[in-house]
Amino acid sequence: MLVNLPRLGSVSVTVLTAAARRLGSFYLHSGSVVRKSETIIQANMKVELLPALADNYMYLLIDNETKEAAVVDPVEPQKVVEAVKKHGVKLTTVLTTHHHWDHAGGNEELVMKVPDLQVYGGDDRIRALTCRATHKKTFQVGSLNVRCLFTPCHTSGHICYFVTKENSSEAPAVFTGDTLFVAGCGKFFEGSGEEMYRALIDILGSLPPETRVYCGHEYTINNLKFARHVEPNNAAIKQKLAWAKEHYGLGKPTIPSTIGEEFSYNPFMRVREKSVQEHVGKKDAISTMDAIRKEKDKFQVPKD
Ligand SMILES: [Zn+2]
Repeated sequence: MLVNLPRLGSVSVTVLTAAARRLGSFYLHSGSVVRKSETIIQANMKVELLPALADNYMYLLIDNETKEAAVVDPVEPQKVVEAVKKHGVKLTTVLTTHHHWDHAGGNEELVMKVPDLQVYGGDDRIRALTCRATHKKTFQVGSLNVRCLFTPCHTSGHICYFVTKENSSEAPAVFTGDTLFVAGCGKFFEGSGEEMYRALIDILGSLPPETRVYCGHEYTINNLKFARHVEPNNAAIKQKLAWAKEHYGLGKPTIPSTIGEEFSYNPFMRVREKSVQEHVGKKDAISTMDAIRKEKDKFQVPKD
């Protein structure tokens, strides 16, 4: 059981890139590590990372031009309402990645708290749905463009949301739910390795490499320990693991990554590489996808 205590206020700013910076504040979870919220600030959009439950993230996406906002997977509605108030924005849209309760379970309460919300999702099992998301469907959140990407496998109705702004030189964002994690991917509950290959390589893998990846869970360290087991000689994995341990130890999110980075250390995005195929004794990418998923499902995570 998690008890959420009030936010303790802002902490310092660290530089992410010239165009984006991070602002953080604390959330306390009793019986768990202290996880901090953080805001990724770009000229065109802000993304506030809102830790939820034990290891989920909700995201408040703000269009800087119009102060209109969307929220991704608002499982803890009260926290979302507080973040909306803090930023002084108008929440108009809910982006639901999939029907699992730790992502969609707050929808009904949120629509009671905030009037006139458009609730997007790609699955009839999602509560309070008002707009069915289908592959390549587009809509606006203020001046931001959102494109739905149908990525079935973890669940058969999973949608990722790709966000861009016209005539902006800044990195786009993609909200990947339980399809793509930093250095990992979701379990194949309702799909096959072939579908996950299509989701990770053909669809998400063809987004611009600088696209920031905002995923559904803080699983980065354990994922990287598995990645290291698959590719012990991959320097990008070692480097990212050291970075992730340091950040997580300070209560900071290890999110976002980028699509380009994922190709360097995520074994599920590296299924075309010889080193990954040889690890599972396969000769093609799709049977490698199936084999490393099976191996990861049974993997005993080492302490260090
Ligand atoms: Zn899920």
